Amino acid sequence: MPLGAVTLDAAGTLFEVAEPVGATYARIAARHGIGLAPAEVMRRFRAALAAAPPLAFPGASPVRLGDHERAWWYAVVRRAFGAGATSPQFDACFTELFDVFAQAAAWRVFPDAPGALRALRARGLRVGVVSNFDGRLLGLLEHLGLAPLVDRTVHSTRVGVAKPDPAIFHVALEALGVPPSEALHAGDDVMADVEGALAAGLRAVLIDREERRAALPPGVQRVRSVAELVAGLDS
Ligand SMILES: [Mg+2]
Repeated sequence: MPLGAVTLDAAGTLFEVAEPVGATYARIAARHGIGLAPAEVMRRFRAALAAAPPLAFPGASPVRLGDHERAWWYAVVRRAFGAGATSPQFDACFTELFDVFAQAAAWRVFPDAPGALRALRARGLRVGVVSNFDGRLLGLLEHLGLAPLVDRTVHSTRVGVAKPDPAIFHVALEALGVPPSEALHAGDDVMADVEGALAAGLRAVLIDREERRAALPPGVQRVRSVAELVAGLDS
């Protein structure tokens, strides 16, 4: 089957946090008089994310979506703060953190990403972003300079379903006008990106920037960057 579209994950694939989350949390918490050890808060943050429900609110009214997103993150950040969350300053600190991560300065675009997105389009491919993210994603892509390089962006809170659910891929491909059999998805998470895309009928590639070399389903390719993915399309 010819390839008509490539969809990509966002965080960990096109961009990443500019500094470790634990460091940002500890730095901003200190401004609110809350003492946190960066390594400890990082460990608790990872555990909180792993235990959190999917970042999607099926059936939620669009006008309430922002509240649901904030509440989801409030619970995650609370767990990450541990005893620090009992501080009377916690709510103010959370508000600042939520705003910080809505700003481009908190993130760093992987150097290969913009050129790779342009190269995909230059091949005549439709390009999409499929991300488990909240409404802050659209502004971030804009401010990071990535929005003009993609045709469609689909985030989980908007469609009410998160990866690895095949439905989020189908929403994206419908918007791109390309059937799953002619699409490839690439991302850095084996379950969300690889298993999800395969279940939705797309081809899948793992973007393994840190060379963690997690086990993959048979036949799934692993590359170290989006640029390497694009180069591999030629061979
Ligand atoms: Mg990711």
